[in-house]
Amino acid sequence: MRVLGIESSCDETGVALYDSERGLLAHQLYSQVKMHAEFGGVVPELASRDHIRTLLPLIQETFAEAELPLGQVDGVAFTAGPGLIGALMVGAATARSLAFGWGVPALGVHHMEGHLLAPMLETNPPAYPFVALLVSGGHTLLVDVKAPGAYSILGESLDDAAGEAFDKTAKMMGLPYPGGPLLSQIAEQGRTGVFRFPRPMIDRPGMDFSFSGLKTSVRLQIAKHSVDGVVPDATRADIACAFQEAVVETLAVKCRRALQHTGYRRLVIAGGVSANKQLRLGLAKMAEKERSELFFPRPEFCTDNGAMIAYAGWLRLRAGQGSDLSLDIRPRWPLDTLEPI
Ligand code: ATP
Ligand code: MG
Ligand code: FE
Repeated sequence: MRVLGIESSCDETGVALYDSERGLLAHQLYSQVKMHAEFGGVVPELASRDHIRTLLPLIQETFAEAELPLGQVDGVAFTAGPGLIGALMVGAATARSLAFGWGVPALGVHHMEGHLLAPMLETNPPAYPFVALLVSGGHTLLVDVKAPGAYSILGESLDDAAGEAFDKTAKMMGLPYPGGPLLSQIAEQGRTGVFRFPRPMIDRPGMDFSFSGLKTSVRLQIAKHSVDGVVPDATRADIACAFQEAVVETLAVKCRRALQHTGYRRLVIAGGVSANKQLRLGLAKMAEKERSELFFPRPEFCTDNGAMIAYAGWLRLRAGQGSDLSLDIRPRWPLDTLEPI
């Protein structure tokens, strides 16, 4: 079975072809990041318009890359939510129309289920059940994954998402949007132990997260060490390093709790922040102590992409799921309310 996957929930247009026999056949990504950088964040209306402009050419390129005639698929999957309403509508309308024209079913996929299943595209995929830590621009979720489609939330962020905390902290440091990856690069030059920030909520029971207090501590240190409104580069690197350490340790503590709570020996990390090198190292160390295995997607499939949507869509289309012609998008959509597969 071959599935076309379309991702358009935010500022990335992603398209991919997944084949159950041959694996991932092709994937293309167009990032709008440069366009939004000028405004310091994603402008929803511009995002929708850009998805309209890029989606069809990207679909053609994906079929060409796979050396397949346009439309040689058994189903089309698109991101139905959560995300920006206009951006989602572009993907949904395009996917539904193409599927109708090609005479195949279409199906709306949950964006976070896509992220969660992205490690399944790697050569050594995790077996079920496992704990998943989803850390992205809009979410920080610890999930008990009993089987594909069977998700219960163990913990979540009470305020900022992990990626959001990275981006907002980067902005305070004067880094251009989206600052998360840049902040982590700068942190590599910083020295450990010069600054120490609070590990939010690790002394409290439970598996929820909070990052806004950490952000405030960083803001205070930046203000304290600024000269004429600018933090010297070396100090900035030390602060970035301490911030990253605090985030990694907080996430590691909660992941350990989730492994102990569920008794599982497998931990999956996914979403944009799972590309972070120090997070991978920190979690690998913790997992080793817990005699558990750590799984993550290749870096390009940590952030938004069409491949994860094609894969998640295939799992559901294979099970006979798929809906009628209604666009059926859900800008807000809790992960633990999905239809079982
Ligand atoms: P969501 O998936 O919750 O809807 P999103 O799709 O915008 O949000 P992703 O594309 O999964 O989020 O991830 C983007 C986020 O990941 C951004 O906040 C970005 O700063 C962060 N990010 C990407 N790479 C890194 C890195 N190396 N270190 C830290 N953060 C990173
Ligand atoms: Mg993005
Ligand atoms: Fe995402």
